[in-house]
Amino acid sequence: MKSIKHVVIAGGGTAGWITAALLNKVLGKVINITLIESSSIGSVGVGEATIPPIVQLNNALGINEQDFINATNASIKLGIEFENWKTPKHNYMHAFGSFGKDFPFCDFYNFWLKGQVTGCEDELWDFSLNYQAAKQHRFAPLNTIPNTQLPGLSYAYHFDATLYAEYLKKLAISRGVKHIDAKIDHVEQCLTTGNIKSLALDNDSQISGDLFIDCTGLRALLIEQTLNTGFIDWSHYLPCDSAVAVQTHSTNDLKPYTRSIAHSAGWQWQIPLQNRIGNGLVYCCRYLSDDDAKQLLLQKLPAEPITEPRVIKFKTGRRLKQWHKNVVAVGLSSGFLEPLESTSIHLIQTAVTRLIKLFPHNGISDALVTEFNKQSVIEIEHIRDFIILHYKLTEREDSPFWRQCRQMDIPDSLSQKMNLFKQTGKVVREDDELFAEVAWQQVMIGQGLIPDDYNSIVDSLSDEQLSDLFSTLKTLINSTVAQLPTHQDFLASIKKV
Ligand code: FAD
Repeated sequence: MKSIKHVVIAGGGTAGWITAALLNKVLGKVINITLIESSSIGSVGVGEATIPPIVQLNNALGINEQDFINATNASIKLGIEFENWKTPKHNYMHAFGSFGKDFPFCDFYNFWLKGQVTGCEDELWDFSLNYQAAKQHRFAPLNTIPNTQLPGLSYAYHFDATLYAEYLKKLAISRGVKHIDAKIDHVEQCLTTGNIKSLALDNDSQISGDLFIDCTGLRALLIEQTLNTGFIDWSHYLPCDSAVAVQTHSTNDLKPYTRSIAHSAGWQWQIPLQNRIGNGLVYCCRYLSDDDAKQLLLQKLPAEPITEPRVIKFKTGRRLKQWHKNVVAVGLSSGFLEPLESTSIHLIQTAVTRLIKLFPHNGISDALVTEFNKQSVIEIEHIRDFIILHYKLTEREDSPFWRQCRQMDIPDSLSQKMNLFKQTGKVVREDDELFAEVAWQQVMIGQGLIPDDYNSIVDSLSDEQLSDLFSTLKTLINSTVAQLPTHQDFLASIKKV
């Protein structure tokens, strides 16, 4: 087995530069890293909403938060509002963070479920600090609710994807990553093993390496075009296969959350940044043509467009093996789940973290590759199920697209989760999966899957104690939110630093 000393990253979008920056940060003293990207090809240019673990990624890279927010025109994200998903005009939010106060062995929503039985009229989201702050457009970093041990705000960012990649590029190059701007013309393989030996560039140079990371986006130049690794298609579960994206001017209300607005054949995103709003329409081209999608998006924009609408085609699914021979696919080259829960950038983060933990310093072994691929499959299948849940639980009957979603078969793993919740009120987080119980609970309850039962620990409180608990929590949450600055003022205070 050949020891791994030189890692070559093909592609410099968000995936390429996160990979370069993180590998360099952790392993920079023991490996050399070269990143090749082609400015003539460019990156996909979308991917602007994230989830809370991005904060840890930036911390791990030693990034100053204020500097990062200013450099990428970032705003704060406290959750995703789902509009028209259950039925037209019905809204709910997947708010980050926790709800109310969890008790030993019993999540808070069980108390809320009992409250529904005893006549309490509060919404579950009345007990979410994140939701209340989001809807009032308020934010400040808050680890705990003051004078309590209850968790504070959990947040992520919306940012300009191109500026984020540039930010990481500067960081990685300053720390020693070698950067080449050239097009990969063809790929040289070893005739006996099939491993990749080198990449031939259009500037007539040849870059050899021990391990290659494919960050070439949907092209999947190494993992698929060269190694023919194979692809598992999930479009029967997630039928959307196209998106049209456009940027608009900002509006006066800088929302600290992403909007996901269902339409007749998919959904629309609105991602507010400091200086503009990222907009897009995700759709299934069997039910909506590209031209009609563009028209629909342009009719539904929150402000004047500042770019031309751009159509992006994708296929939902995963690469059969994320690591094959001496190539690891990271980012869009490894597969794609539509951006409904903003999980793609997170999957880049976890893929690189996994690679670092399993790094083949003394050579690539089958056992290592198998372990890496096993973990990757478990992770993405859990996320796939969570995304399917949003579609499957719709009550919409108003278009063929939504009727198909209601009727489609779903993975057994998801059926089991939904049945368990419906019958018992329980959600079990498996295999360290990304989305915690509280995320599943919000989407299931938000879309009308109300359990028939709740945890009997709740019955140890009398109705009066339950009512006191609810009113104490609401007072605490409302008074905390009232003291937060507006999202806009928070960002302005950062600009001044
Ligand atoms: P790309 O950005 O496509 O980068 C590919 C790189 O490879 C480029 O640098 C290119 O120059 C290089 N390259 C390709 N071929 C060659 C060659 N022959 N020679 C040299 N270089 C080459 N994710 C989220 O987390 N949140 C979101 O809100 C979100 N929204 C999305 C919306 C849509 C419609 C889509 C399609 C994706 C979205 N994603 C989102 C996913 C996100 O955009 C990607 O995960 C992320 O941008 C990483 O892309 P990438 O770096 O893998 O590919």
